[in-house]
Amino acid sequence: MRPQAGRYDAIIVGGGIVGISTACVLAGRGLRVLLLERFTPAHEHGSSHGDSRMIRFDYEETVYVEMAARAFRAWEDLAKRLGKPVFRQTGICNLAPADAEVLETLETRLRDCGLPFERLAESSFARRFPQLNLPQLSEAIYQPDSAVLFADEVVRSLWDCAREDGVDARTETEVVSLLPGADSVEVRTSDGRTWSGTRLVLATGGWTGRWFDALGLDALGLDASLVVTRELLAYFPQAGPVPHEAGAMPNVIDYHTPDPFYCVPQVRVPGVKAGCHRTGRIVEADDPEEVDRANLAAVQDFIGRRCPHLSPDPVAVKHCLYTNSADYHFILDRHPEHDNVVLAAGFSGHGFKFGPVLGEILAARLFDERPPVDTSLFGLERFNRPGALKPRTLA
Ligand SMILES: Cc1cc2nc3c(=O)[nH]c(=O)nc-3n(C[C@H](O)[C@H](O)[C@H](O)COP(=O)(O)OP(=O)(O)OC[C@H]3O[C@@H](n4cnc5c(N)ncnc54)[C@H](O)[C@@H]3O)c2cc1C
Repeated sequence: MRPQAGRYDAIIVGGGIVGISTACVLAGRGLRVLLLERFTPAHEHGSSHGDSRMIRFDYEETVYVEMAARAFRAWEDLAKRLGKPVFRQTGICNLAPADAEVLETLETRLRDCGLPFERLAESSFARRFPQLNLPQLSEAIYQPDSAVLFADEVVRSLWDCAREDGVDARTETEVVSLLPGADSVEVRTSDGRTWSGTRLVLATGGWTGRWFDALGLDALGLDASLVVTRELLAYFPQAGPVPHEAGAMPNVIDYHTPDPFYCVPQVRVPGVKAGCHRTGRIVEADDPEEVDRANLAAVQDFIGRRCPHLSPDPVAVKHCLYTNSADYHFILDRHPEHDNVVLAAGFSGHGFKFGPVLGEILAARLFDERPPVDTSLFGLERFNRPGALKPRTLA
C-alpha cells in the first residue's frame, strides 16, 4: 500500500450533511481537506436526501435549542452566499390531548428559553390552520420560528461550496479500511488507493457500526452500539383549494399516539411529507428497500384524520435511515485512544437542522478546542454505563 503523494490536514469519511458541513468548516480554516463519499451528493441510500427537513427549537435539552439558533444564523449565511433561499419559515404545531404532559413540558421549555409561542384550543386552531383537524379536548403549541430546510439542495450546494473553497471532495469512493497512527491516519479506498491525513473525521451515518467495531470501542468498555432503522415517509398531494405548501401551513408533530406522527409542508409542489417517528424496521444500511405496508397504512390513516384536504393516496413513498444511539443523543467525540480521530454518529433522526454547528463542534473536537456549545451530552464516556442512559422522550 503506497500512500498518495502529499498528506491532508484532515480526511473526512462520509459526505452527508454532517461530513460536508465539517469539510466546509475545516476548509474555512485554510486546511487541506479530503472528503471521501461512497455514493454521490444527496444520494437516496443514507439520511440526508429528500426535499425537506424541519428546523425547530422545541427541544427539552437547552443545548439543542442553542444549536438550532446558531445553525439558523449559519443557514442564513449560506443563503446569502448562494444568493437564494435555503429554507422557508413555516412555524410548527405540536398537537396533543389538552392534559398531556408533553404540552406542559414544551410550554415550560419554550418559556425558559425565551422563545415565542401560543397555546391554541380547538376553535382558534381551526380558524388559524384550516389544513389541520384537531380533535376535541386537544390543544396545540404553535412556535413561529420553525422552518423547512431545502435538504437536497442544501447538501448539493454545500458540496459546491466545499469544492470552491479547495476541498478535495471525491464521490463514488468507498473507504474500506482505516489505520490510525500516533500523528497520522491512513485510509484505503475500494479503488486500491491509500490516502494519508493528520486527522480524521468519521461521518458515515448508518454505516458507522462497522467502524466502531474496527476502532475497538467495545474492547474499551464502551457499548456505543447504534441501531439503524429504515423510516418510511410518504408524500400526499393537495386535494382541494386549501393551500398546503411551505409558507401556507406549519410543520406538525402529533403526540396523540405513543410514536408521534409528523408532517412537513412540501417545498416544490403543494402537499405534505408525512411519517411516524422511529417506527422503521431495524436494518443493515445496505439491506434492500422494502415498503412496510402496515406502516404506510398507519401514515395514510394519520393523514385521513389530521389533514382532511389532502388525498390519502400518496404520490410517492420513500425511505431514509435513522442511526439511533441508545439515548437518541448525538455522538460527537474523540476516539479515546486516537486523539486525531473524531467520531460523529447517532443522529437519531434529528441531526440535519444542526449541520453547520455540527461542523463547528467536530472541527473543535479535532483540534482539542472549546466547542461553541456545551457538548457534555454528546461524549463517548456515557456508554461506560449504558444502564444509566436516559433516552430523549420528545420527537
Ligand atoms: C425520514 C427522516 C426525516 C428526518 N427529518 C429530520 C428533520 O425534520 N430535521 C432534522 O434536523 N433531521 C431530520 N432527520 C435526520 C437527519 O436527516 C439525519 O440526522 C442526517 O441527515 C444524518 O446525516 P449524516 O451525514 O450523519 O448521514 P448520511 O446522510 O447518511 O451520510 C453518511 C454518508 O457516509 C457515506 N459513507 C458511509 N460509509 C462510507 C464509506 N465506507 N466510504 C465513504 N463514504 C461512506 C454514505 O454514503 C453517506 O453519504 C430525518 C431523517 C429521516 C430519515
